[in-house]
Amino acid sequence: MASYLDPLKEAEIMNMHRKATITFIAVLSLGSTSCDFAPLAPEAAMVATVPTADADPNPYPAIAVGSDDPHRFQFEIALVDQGAYELRSQILAQADRWARIVDGSDLEDIDWEPGTVRCGGLEHDYRQDVLDDVLVMVSVQDFRDGGGLSTTNCGYRESSGLPTLGAIVLDVDGLSRGQVNDFFLHAFGHMLGFGVSWQDRDLLRNPSSADRPADTHFTGDRAIAAFVAAGGASYRGPKVPVENETTWGSVNTHWRESVFGEELMTSGLREGVADYLSAITIQSLADIGYTVDVEEADSYSLPPARAAASAMAAGPAVHITEEVVISPAVFYDRHGNVVRVVRN
Ligand SMILES: [Zn+2]
Repeated sequence: MASYLDPLKEAEIMNMHRKATITFIAVLSLGSTSCDFAPLAPEAAMVATVPTADADPNPYPAIAVGSDDPHRFQFEIALVDQGAYELRSQILAQADRWARIVDGSDLEDIDWEPGTVRCGGLEHDYRQDVLDDVLVMVSVQDFRDGGGLSTTNCGYRESSGLPTLGAIVLDVDGLSRGQVNDFFLHAFGHMLGFGVSWQDRDLLRNPSSADRPADTHFTGDRAIAAFVAAGGASYRGPKVPVENETTWGSVNTHWRESVFGEELMTSGLREGVADYLSAITIQSLADIGYTVDVEEADSYSLPPARAAASAMAAGPAVHITEEVVISPAVFYDRHGNVVRVVRN
């Protein structure tokens, strides 16, 4: 039987936190790592937190979220700064939702040389010698420049194409507690490969670019069936429609806002309502290789075309800029060796 958030581990972390002396200084080095292609605002460098010289150099060890069973799924969550640490229960709860969804997935463990791991401008002293299954570094910052979410996928398994290393940076300035939850839930979807493993698995057709919008769509059979079941049978275009409108966030990596409305994995989030984590999204994870539990889906059906159009006209209440970074993609074999690097 799977066990999820481990209260003992939580208590251990909290004790460690009380003993550690934390100081706030600017040390986040930007642009220095192979995975750091998510440029942060300059202000980001000013809110990074690091331990003082006599404190534990690794004040927040990675926290396991998901099953203890090595043949089931778990995230390793590294809270890399004080901002993330303060929101840990919210962050871990969102990761746990996805861990339940893909709990039955037996991903290949990666032998890992303990040491500093870098991704998306973040770094963490990872002290374990096996990466099981996805290490996610999380930073919470306050840029005071209108908000922003950055998700970066740096490492993937060569065997399955599924992610093994990623980073989330959220600017929480001006966001409600519910919105913070929504953004983290959305971000952890990308950490599993939603939107970012599609091209490598050859499941994305007609990718769009800013100057060349196309009828971009995801071709996974199970997601298409779930799309039809959710009211998409009469949808005239190729299924499943993927975001192709640049003003609505990252193209090619989200469901199309104009068709999906309040679904979680579109590019826009609504104010005052938690967006729905649909069976379409869960089945898209099955299409890329996870074993999923579709019972974890929220009840969701596609909005009528007219309602979706008027919602589009109103715009998302939360204008958050999101950067989804998927390149360069570093692929590892089970011994932790870099097998290939893909740059788009
Ligand atoms: Zn996104």
